[in-house]
Amino acid sequence: EAKRQGKGRICVYTSDMTDTVRTRLNLEQCLHHALERQELELYYQPVFDLAEGSLVGFEALIRWNHPVSGLLLPDQFIRIAEECGLIQSIGSWVLDSALQQLSQWSETTGTTLVMAVNVSPKQFLQDDFLTLVEAALRRWQVPAHQLEIEITESTLQDFQRSRGIVSALRGLGVRVAIDDFGTGYSSLALLKHLPVSRIKIDRSFILALPDNKRDLGLVSVMLKMASSLELQVTAEGVETRQQAEALQQLGCPTVQGFYYGYPLPAARALQGAFTSVQRCDDKC
Ligand code: C2E
Ligand code: MG
Ligand code: MG
Ligand code: MG
Repeated sequence: EAKRQGKGRICVYTSDMTDTVRTRLNLEQCLHHALERQELELYYQPVFDLAEGSLVGFEALIRWNHPVSGLLLPDQFIRIAEECGLIQSIGSWVLDSALQQLSQWSETTGTTLVMAVNVSPKQFLQDDFLTLVEAALRRWQVPAHQLEIEITESTLQDFQRSRGIVSALRGLGVRVAIDDFGTGYSSLALLKHLPVSRIKIDRSFILALPDNKRDLGLVSVMLKMASSLELQVTAEGVETRQQAEALQQLGCPTVQGFYYGYPLPAARALQGAFTSVQRCDDKC
């Protein structure tokens, strides 16, 4: 920009850029206080078993109740948290809060639910991640197999190290899922070398079902592969009845998406999920 405007100009910010920089600095400042001011909140989206028509568990999804900007989604602040070194403390809070919620729901429902927690690369690769997981499980008396850690392929760039952590988690009995499966470059190689328990088929593959025959073929192949590798599999981002029917016909075992249930605050999530189960027979 400065160059285009000719010599002698050192740097010219457009008003847009200034706004972006200001917003960014502002968010970063506020994010430092968000935890202590209890502005972070977990929403919970239900995961359903299609064949059984039953609730499998929930995925915890972080939200920030920003005092001025209102409800912020993770895409608006997780990157910043990663870049300014806040992701570890936020991540610990997420893990702890999600397990606290799970232990409470286990008590009230008497059913075994699985809680899925998203973990950023920096958090996953931090030295004391395993210790944190063990401590949180112990604190809330949650059996290890009821926790599922979701990582993406970007976490696996340091492959040796991340594989060690995946193995150790599995050794504890904790489940590990590959989120947004199919969007990275090395999905198959990952499965060859990693003892993960689940893949979550990215919603970009679900979006155009059933009309898009390529996507239909790809989802079908991913389901077959998961089945022969004895991996659990969830289809993400199911929004319509047509998509749901296509997935049922393909024999997809578990599903998640707006069609079945939105992410909701804890107080409404459980009731919402059980209402959906009742409707699940005609919905699935
Ligand atoms: P994700 O883990 O792949 O989560 C699924 C995202 O898709 C969520 O967005 C969810 O609200 C949205 N979603 C669910 N069903 C549907 C659907 O039917 N249609 C559409 N269009 N979207 C659907 P959200 O909550 O905005 O989260 C975005 C991403 O932020 C997550 O993607 C995850 O990668 C990250 N994230 C969320 N919570 C946390 C967290 O506690 N820690 C970390 N490190 N990352 C998180
Ligand atoms: Mg996820
Ligand atoms: Mg995903
Ligand atoms: Mg994602």
